[in-house]
Amino acid sequence: MAIYTVDMYVFFVNDANPGANIKRLKQDLFNANSAWKGCIQFTVKGIFFSKRKRIVNADSIPANNVFKNKQIDYLIRSARYSTSYKTGIYIFYLNGDYFAEGRGKNVVGVSGTEMVDFKSSKDYEFFGRILLTDMAAGRYTLAHEVGHILFKRYNEGDNTFIHSDPSGPYIDSQTKRIDPAHNNSRKNLMFPISPPVNPVITFDQCQVAKQCKIAKVRIENFEEVFKFNSINYF
Ligand SMILES: [Zn+2]
Repeated sequence: MAIYTVDMYVFFVNDANPGANIKRLKQDLFNANSAWKGCIQFTVKGIFFSKRKRIVNADSIPANNVFKNKQIDYLIRSARYSTSYKTGIYIFYLNGDYFAEGRGKNVVGVSGTEMVDFKSSKDYEFFGRILLTDMAAGRYTLAHEVGHILFKRYNEGDNTFIHSDPSGPYIDSQTKRIDPAHNNSRKNLMFPISPPVNPVITFDQCQVAKQCKIAKVRIENFEEVFKFNSINYF
């Protein structure tokens, strides 16, 4: 049976102890794999603790233009260097509860993609990046943010990259504002605030995710989703 897998590289820049961080990662990974079960399997390929006990405080980073922030840019560049520029999703555990106010209040997770190489509409490479705060713990935040990355695709129609939810959009019931990146069903993983229990994904969401450039196809999967020998320092 063909299995679709996505590699993850995880970086801790918070002040929790290694044991607590590993426990949290296992929970997030478990939630991501349950939410995407039967569609995508996430495999942690590398876990990186900071050599110099570097701490990045989420509340020092405004929630809009996160990836233009110098501190975050530097963090991502050192993470990429540490993995020798592997393709996958780079996850960063930041210190503190929320990002500084910008794009809304109480933001606990942010995601984005960065193009590495573009040859044509069918031949391109990018990687994903996700930042999580302490308040994203115990939820489906990682699973949700991963969705935004897996929906990135080339749209032949208007020759541009899109990352809209194929089962979207979300329409705000009060303001009627349309949000193409999210889903209108409260039970769906991609509802703007991901459901606290048993989120579902649609067939179309799964199909788009499987075709994402960072998903790999394996005929069978004998790999563990999490390896302890993958612990490193950066
Ligand atoms: Zn979202």
